[in-house]
Amino acid sequence: TKVVHWFRSKDLRIQDNTGLHHASFLAQDSKKPLIGVYLHCPAELSWHGTSPARTDFILEGLQVMQKELKDLNIPLVILQADKRDDIVPTIVKFLEDQSISHVFANYEYEVDELRRDTSFVKEMGGSIQVSLHHDQTAVEPGAILTSAGKPMKVFTPYHHAWLSTIKDDPSLLDTVLAPVANPSWAKKELKDFFDSPIPDLPSDKQFPSSEDKQRIRKLWPAGHTSASERMDSFLKQINHYASTRSNPAKNSTSRMSAYFSAGMYSVREALSKLKAHNSSSADFSESEASPGIYSWVRELVFRELYRQTTLTTPHTSMNLPQNLKFDSVLWEDDEEGWQRWISGTTGEPFIDAGMRQLNAEAYMHNRLRMNVSSYLYCNLLIDYRRGERYFAETLVDWDLSNNTQGWEPSYTVFNPVSQAERNDPEGEYIRKWVPELRDVQGKAIFAPSERLSEGEFEKLGYPRPYVNWKETKQRAIERFKSDMRDA
Ligand code: FAD
Repeated sequence: TKVVHWFRSKDLRIQDNTGLHHASFLAQDSKKPLIGVYLHCPAELSWHGTSPARTDFILEGLQVMQKELKDLNIPLVILQADKRDDIVPTIVKFLEDQSISHVFANYEYEVDELRRDTSFVKEMGGSIQVSLHHDQTAVEPGAILTSAGKPMKVFTPYHHAWLSTIKDDPSLLDTVLAPVANPSWAKKELKDFFDSPIPDLPSDKQFPSSEDKQRIRKLWPAGHTSASERMDSFLKQINHYASTRSNPAKNSTSRMSAYFSAGMYSVREALSKLKAHNSSSADFSESEASPGIYSWVRELVFRELYRQTTLTTPHTSMNLPQNLKFDSVLWEDDEEGWQRWISGTTGEPFIDAGMRQLNAEAYMHNRLRMNVSSYLYCNLLIDYRRGERYFAETLVDWDLSNNTQGWEPSYTVFNPVSQAERNDPEGEYIRKWVPELRDVQGKAIFAPSERLSEGEFEKLGYPRPYVNWKETKQRAIERFKSDMRDA
């Protein structure tokens, strides 16, 4: 008999992988060989709208991991299910056929994934032992509760509680060991499992051109080694993070999100590296940590909270807003507005720059994500879920918890002109992504149609604002109020 670790698209690494670590130790203790399994389901990727960039990143990550595992005599077998309903039967069949005694995996917290695991465990009916582990966060989702024993939903109290939890128990940041190699005798027994082919990109996940594919791969090289190099170079500049993170032209954020989202790098590993930079202290509070470390950890805490939110308010992974009242808003069916938003031609320079960055890099700076989302559902009054889906279809770092919580509608209407003036004061980010405005000087870049003469503006070949920001802000607030009143 053998032991299996079932990799999912959120734990594609061998370093500090909780389920894999336990699988490996059980295998070693019971003198059984260990096999890694990944189940590829193109229909599942289509269902979630997963982007070509993220799909390719995952497939490349599998390739890297397969090599690393092979060096340890551990095969990585790629199974394929054509339909979503075939996922559980396919894995069950493999486990039964190969006389597996024990299967390990790490939890995924979205409703469909939890249902899949429930039906998998039922299907196994005790014939094969199943162990599921928490692996995505430093503090387990559901562990931080209010004084009334309810899961916390509000960021600030969660943040404080999270900081004390880590400070009181720094072992939460300890990483687990990579798997031990299979003994050499196992090589022969497992010979049919090595070199399982990595699937090609599914037909609906092709890049528009091979140049696009190469460009995206260069920006987001897959695997733990690339992630680790990125983390190390970010740590060298973390001191500037607090003061520059909101300026998208400075490129001062870590760009680690794709690696966290596919699990190519664990948050525990990041935090334990930070601890070493924090005088070996697990106290990341504002008074104890440097401003850079404090504020970067704070962002990771958003990520931790959002996994808890997905688990405790399951409707957020079923296409519903956390605040259910927003579900009763009547949205506009504005096709031209939509086309302008996705192509970055709304006539609002900051919004257009953000959307063009997204389309070119499969990534967008956080400040822009906040602005373009607000613009879509407030100023264009287009259903926020359409934008949420577009992000899934384009982002390399798509993550259901972060994306749904990022898109959670609210009454805050961002002003793209003042946002740009504050966060991109030199207009550098706009100039980079909106070449039509490259030569516009001074503050005119933020609102060229208002701040340039008619003649100067006409020469740019750049559109006028598609909507009047003030009027549409008012329209949104009135619509939200009236539609949500009786909800
Ligand atoms: P850094 O500033 O270096 O932050 C470090 C890490 O902290 C990130 O890698 C990420 O894991 C986490 N983080 C940072 N900001 C947030 C945040 N606001 N919420 C939760 N976690 C955060 N993030 C995703 O990973 N995937 C998504 O699909 C996603 N969709 C978003 C949609 C909207 C509308 C908004 C407003 C935000 C979204 N975010 C998403 C959060 C955030 O924008 C990105 O995580 C961040 O821009 C990634 O860049 P970075 O790795 O350089 O971040």
